Amino acid sequence: MDAEATSLTSPAPDRSRALATEAVHAGRDDLASLGLHAAPIDLSTTYPSYDSRAEAERIDAFAATGAQPDGPPVYARLDNPTTARFEKALATLEGTGSAVAFASGMAALSAVLLARASAGLRHVVAVRPLYGCSDRLLGSGLLGTEVTWTDPAGIADAIRPDTGLVMVETPANPTLAEIDIRAVAHSCGTVPLLVDNTFATPVLQRPVEHGARIVLHSATKYLGGHGDVMGGVVACDEEFAATLRQMRFATGGVLHPLAGYLLLRGLSTLAVRVRAASASAAELARRLTADPRVSRVHYPELGGAMVSFEVYGEPHRVIAGVRLITPAVSLGSVDTLIQHPASISHRIVDEGDRRAAGVGDRLLRMSVGLEDVEDIWADLCQALSRGAGAAPAPVPHAAGQGRR
Ligand SMILES: *Cc1c(COP(=O)(O)O)cnc(C)c1O
Repeated sequence: MDAEATSLTSPAPDRSRALATEAVHAGRDDLASLGLHAAPIDLSTTYPSYDSRAEAERIDAFAATGAQPDGPPVYARLDNPTTARFEKALATLEGTGSAVAFASGMAALSAVLLARASAGLRHVVAVRPLYGCSDRLLGSGLLGTEVTWTDPAGIADAIRPDTGLVMVETPANPTLAEIDIRAVAHSCGTVPLLVDNTFATPVLQRPVEHGARIVLHSATKYLGGHGDVMGGVVACDEEFAATLRQMRFATGGVLHPLAGYLLLRGLSTLAVRVRAASASAAELARRLTADPRVSRVHYPELGGAMVSFEVYGEPHRVIAGVRLITPAVSLGSVDTLIQHPASISHRIVDEGDRRAAGVGDRLLRMSVGLEDVEDIWADLCQALSRGAGAAPAPVPHAAGQGRR
C-alpha cells in the first residue's frame, strides 16, 4: 500500500525551510487547497463506509504493517486527521520520518516500553535523573520491563542481549544536567537511544541529528505551551512509528482531537515562545548566580527556559512567597511556574535515589514564562527574601508534604 505517499503522518521532511517556518506551516500544507485557513477539528469517533470489503483490507493492512491507513479514517482509536496534522508537524520539526501522538507523555513512554518488551527486549538502560514518573515507571517494573541505572560512561557495559532501549533526558528534569547525545548514541551500538526532549524542544535540540533514534515529548509542556492541553508524542522513523501505532490501537492511549488541534496551534508559536522565555531564563540565571541567598544555579549550556537553583534558606517559604509566579508543578507554559521537586515532581522517586541524582531538599525548579523579566525578578526577589532570613524549621503547612 502507498500510505507513505499520501499519509499526513509520513512527511518527507523538507529541510529547505527553517524551523520557525515549519512551525507555522508543517501539517497545514493542504489547507489552502481545501479552502481553509485554520486546521479543521474532526471529532468523529467513527466514519461511514459502504464498502466493507475495502474497509477489511484497510484494517488488515494496518494490522500487518502499522502504516497509517490510506483514505478516510476507520475509527478514532486507529486514526484521526486532526491529530495526524500535529504528528506531521512535530515529525518535521524533529527531523524524523514520523511521529505518533498519545494522551500524555506517560502514555507515550508506556507505548515505547511495551513495544520493545513485546519484541522480547524487556531490559532498559537509563540515566538519572529522569522526570519522576518516568523514573518510577522504569523502577517499578510495572510494565514488565527491567531497568539498569547507570551514568553515561556506563551505558556500553550495561547493555545486554535483551536490552531494547537506552533512555536519557537532556537537559534533565529537574537538575538540568546535560548529556552528550552523540557520545551516548555511540555507546548504544544497535540499541535504540530514546532522548526525552521535553525541556529543550526541537527549537534548541534535535536529538536524531546526534544519533538518537526515538525522541519523546511531554507535549503538555512547551509544545502545547499554554498550560491547557495534555499530550505526549514520540518522533521516530516510520518503522518504529508503525509499531507504536499498533500499540496505541491495542492499548488505547490516544490523544483527543481537540488536544491535537491545540498542540498544532501551540507549535506555531513554539520557536518564538522558547526563544523569548530562554532569553529571560538566561538573565534570571545570571542574576541568581550573583545572589547571596542562592547557593547554586543550574542552567544548561544549551540554554532553555528552565532554571533550577538551590537556596540557603527555606525553599518552602520561597514557594509560599511568590505572588506573580505560580507555585505549581508542570512547566513550559506562557506564565512562570515554580515548584520544589523533592516535594512534588520527584516525590515519587525513592528518597535515596532522588538525592543521589542531585535532587536535594533545597532545590527549586522554575519554568520561566513570557512575563517581563523585571517583573519575574521582582517577584522572585521578594519571595527569596521571605525564605532567606528564616530559621531552618519548616513552616507548619509545608511540613506535611515536605516529609514522609
Ligand atoms: C511532564 C514530563 C513527562 C510526563 O509527561 P505527561 O504529559 O505529564 O504525562 C515526561 N518527561 C518529562 C521531562 C516531563 O517533564
